[in-house]
This record gives sequence, C-alpha cells and structure tokens, in this order.
Amino acid sequence: GSTIGIIGGGQLGRMLAMAAARLGYRTVILEPQADCPAAQVATEQIVAAYDNPEALERLAEISDVITYEFENVPVDAAETLNETKPVFPPPEALKVSQDRVTEKRFLNNAGIQTAQWRIVENEGDLEAALLAFEGKGILKTRRFGYDGKGQVKFSGAKGENAKAGFAAVGSVPSILEGLVDFTREISVIAARDEAGDIRIYDIAENVHKDGILATSTVPVSVSSTIAGLAADSARKLLEALNYVGVLGMEFFVLANGTLLANEFAPRVHNSGHWTEAACAVSQFEQHIRAVAGLPLGDARRHSDCVMENLIGDDVEKLPAILAESGAVVHLYGKAEARPGRKMGHVTRITKRL
Ligand code: ATP
Ligand code: MG
Ligand code: MG
Repeated sequence: GSTIGIIGGGQLGRMLAMAAARLGYRTVILEPQADCPAAQVATEQIVAAYDNPEALERLAEISDVITYEFENVPVDAAETLNETKPVFPPPEALKVSQDRVTEKRFLNNAGIQTAQWRIVENEGDLEAALLAFEGKGILKTRRFGYDGKGQVKFSGAKGENAKAGFAAVGSVPSILEGLVDFTREISVIAARDEAGDIRIYDIAENVHKDGILATSTVPVSVSSTIAGLAADSARKLLEALNYVGVLGMEFFVLANGTLLANEFAPRVHNSGHWTEAACAVSQFEQHIRAVAGLPLGDARRHSDCVMENLIGDDVEKLPAILAESGAVVHLYGKAEARPGRKMGHVTRITKRL
C-alpha cells in the first residue's frame, strides 16, 4: 500500500511519519490536537478523537494499513478498523498491554518471569498483598500509567499505610508488584514481520530521573546469558502475540543474574531512539517496514552511543549540544518547554565500531 494511517500525533508518530516519508509512503494521522508534533511531517491529519466513528471510517478509507504510536488507543477503535484495513501491531497487543494485570499474566503465561504481583481492588487487598511481600512493593494503577505516574512505593518502613497508599493512586483498580532490588534496567527493541521474520536490536541500559527516561546507553555491560535471555523473552512475546511491527520491552537485572520483565509497549519506544544514530535501519523505519509488508532491515549497531532525552528546559543546552561533534540531535517541534515534557533527544556517538 502507499498510505500509512497512524493513530496518535506525538513525537513517536512524528518520527514514524518521517521514516514512512523516506520510504516513499504518504501518511495520515488521527489526532485530536491540531498542532501536534506529527502534524508538521505527516501528509494529512484527521483532527478528531481516537474513537470518533466518522474519523475512523475516513482513516480506514484512505489508509492501506494502519498503525499506532501509543498504547492507549481504544481497543474497540483498533478492532473496528481491523475489519476494513489491516491494523498492525494486532489489536490484541493493545488489549494485553493496556492493563498491567493482563500484561503480567500474558508475560507469565508466555514463560517470561516478572516481579511477583497481586491484584488490588481495595485497601484490604493491599494490606494482604503487602503482608505477603514483607511490606515492600510498588502499587501501580492497572491502566493509563506512564512516566512513573500513578505509582506509590512501599519500602517496608514503619508508618507506611495501605489506606493512604491506595488513596494516593486514586483508589482505582491497581496491582501491587514486589519491590525489585535491581542493579540495572535494560530494554530490548524487537521487530517481527507478517512472515514471522524477527530482528532484535542490541540491549540498552536505561536510567530514569523522576520516573522519566533520562538516558539509554549501548552497549550494556551484562553477561551474554542476560543479553540472550532478554532477546529470547522478546522473541517469545512477539510470537505469542503474533506480532507485526516494533515493540519495546523493559527489564530489571538483579545482582544474582535474574532477569525480570517489567512491561512492554506495543510501539516504537523511547529507549530505542538511539537506533536512528547508531544503526543503518532505525526502529522507526523497521516499524514502517514491518507494517507495510517490506522486508525487515539490518538491526546491527555500527556505533556505541548514549541517547539523552531533552526534557523541559534541557533545550536551553541546545546551542552547546549542536556544537558537539558526534551528537545527533532530534527535536520534536514543540513550542512550549513545560517541565517534564519531552522536547527532543540527542544521541552521542561514543565509538565507531
Ligand atoms: P513508562 O514511562 O516506561 O511507561 P510506567 O509509568 O509505565 O513507565 P514503570 O515502567 O512500570 O512505569 O515504572 C517506572 C520505573 O519505576 C521503572 O522504570 C523502575 O525504575 C521503577 N519500578 C517500576 N516497577 C518497579 C518494581 N516492581 N520494583 C522496583 N522498581 C520499579
Ligand atoms: Mg509503561
Ligand atoms: Mg516503564
């Protein structure tokens, strides 16, 4: 097909649209916000809510294939579209990842280890779960959490109170996860096409600041066993979901060599932005190739690098960053630099291989 529909107009949609354009495709984005980052590069925008029936009909009409850039696309909308035009990744991947309970259950059923977890519907559930986890855990809302929002940590210290904790996450259906004492956080970006071909990028090590990804560094100093386990987990997940497209999967590495999956995102992922600077085929192009039915591309890394997110007034450092050699800058065209807002990223090439 020659027109790719993209649900969501944030920076990920923008970078997908850029990659699509480079391969000769037209793009149409569905996004209620008119001056969104993707609007500046997409061929066309449908300005409407993600579940607007007329907008969905129009999107299906003009697209040859439809994809999305965020995991909270209404599942009903994706399923409806899928009756007319192929939606990749499959709507099933949205359904599984939108709820931390279905996500953990799916991972565990696919043979992928996670932190221990319990469903929390009320304060009593939380008290019981905390008792089982020796007072230590992270309470998370089941749905709509991102950048560490909707989370409360219990460290086992005196004075921590289940009632207050449950109120703090908004007294909504939640999950208590065991508190993982990790040595590092890593992620894998992986792609699968319709024929089942799989490409996996090198693992990145991720550092978060105030719940938001700050840096992704490649390569990572983990054992080849850990690296292999992470890649195997991604492969298992792609196959279990009959996945088409790119996904990002986050993990905790423990001191004893255990690897626990944290969560996955059925889309291109912030911790994979380094691929545009250090691989022949970026995660964005890889995703477009997968959904458009083109052969997958080379996911090998030609450089070591560190990707740094430019958040809020980090953009004030831009003149200096632009003067650096080996710095690949990418800005999202957002006018206002609000605190916590992702404005762009820079990938610094640290070594050419
Ligand atoms: P994202 O923006 O990546 O989607 P999110 O809001 O979905 O984030 P998580 O990735 O679940 O949240 O958690 C955010 C961060 O909190 C993790 O990257 C990790 O640093 C820490 N964290 C999450 N769960 C646990 C846990 N069970 N034990 C210890 N630390 C955790
Ligand atoms: Mg998340
Ligand atoms: Mg996360």
